[in-house]
Amino acid sequence: MIAPHRHLLQIEGMHPPQIETMLDLAESYVLLNRSGKTQRDLLRGRTLINLFFEDSTRTRTSFELAGKRLGADVINMSVSTSSVNKGETLLDTAATLNAMMCDLLVVRHDQSGAPNLLAQKVDAAVINAGDGTHEHPTQALLDALTIRRRKGKLEGLVVAICGDILHSRVARSNIHLLSAMGSTVRVVAPPTLIPADAARLGVEVFHDMAKGLAGADVVMALRLQRERMNGGMVPSAREYFRFYGLDFEKLSHARPDAMVMHPGPMNRGVEIDSAVADDPVRSVIKEQVEMGVAVRMAVLDILSRGQNRNV
Ligand code: ASP
Repeated sequence: MIAPHRHLLQIEGMHPPQIETMLDLAESYVLLNRSGKTQRDLLRGRTLINLFFEDSTRTRTSFELAGKRLGADVINMSVSTSSVNKGETLLDTAATLNAMMCDLLVVRHDQSGAPNLLAQKVDAAVINAGDGTHEHPTQALLDALTIRRRKGKLEGLVVAICGDILHSRVARSNIHLLSAMGSTVRVVAPPTLIPADAARLGVEVFHDMAKGLAGADVVMALRLQRERMNGGMVPSAREYFRFYGLDFEKLSHARPDAMVMHPGPMNRGVEIDSAVADDPVRSVIKEQVEMGVAVRMAVLDILSRGQNRNV
């Protein structure tokens, strides 16, 4: 039995058995969710606060749903109306949340490392819901669960992650998780969108979609994160689509049964063609969203086990 986690801040450093435990538990929540049942006793009396300093659709909603399905009291702190806009520091916000005795704190922030800082200052279990360009651990877990359910394994698969790798916390978390689980990870992007530490991350780097996708089992398209770019790192959207947009012609280089993923939000016609995104056989984009709820239930479940609290 693996010791309960205190926080979930990053995938880097997690061991395969820890990852497998989370995925197996999430799998049981997929079945529970599909049966229409809930397990509201599990987190009864616990408080979950969603603290989002950056926009989110899927992640915030699925944490809220996950918390509610397990019986927690869920509070969404809207940062635009909170004291942060009046100049309160992150640590003062942390002290306030601590005084409210919250048990589980889900944080998204545009600064890499913000959840780690909070984790040192609050009693709650902190879950990183995406910090800057650093990590987005629950996204990687839900992606892994989606792949494992479709392919039956992670080991030995070739996964091509395409697009804005440089600014993507999704790419970073996926690279750590999939490499740890024995997949071969390729990144496919223009040179301006490849991180300098790509070699250290142990990935294969490609600048050409046909070569990068050749024989891939999984193709993951990523959004161009223009909000994190300073200056023109890519040509026009039309030209980017021509060379890097995932359409059926480029996908034909991957294995015939290759699955297509995207963490959302999608920019159709930029990094992915609508026909590919909506293809009912190849695309698992909607399934990723479903897996997101199950994975977040598993994470809340595991982290709450690590807390000594009589509820
Ligand atoms: N939703 C993902 C994230 O928060 C991917 C994206 O925004 O493009 O990192």
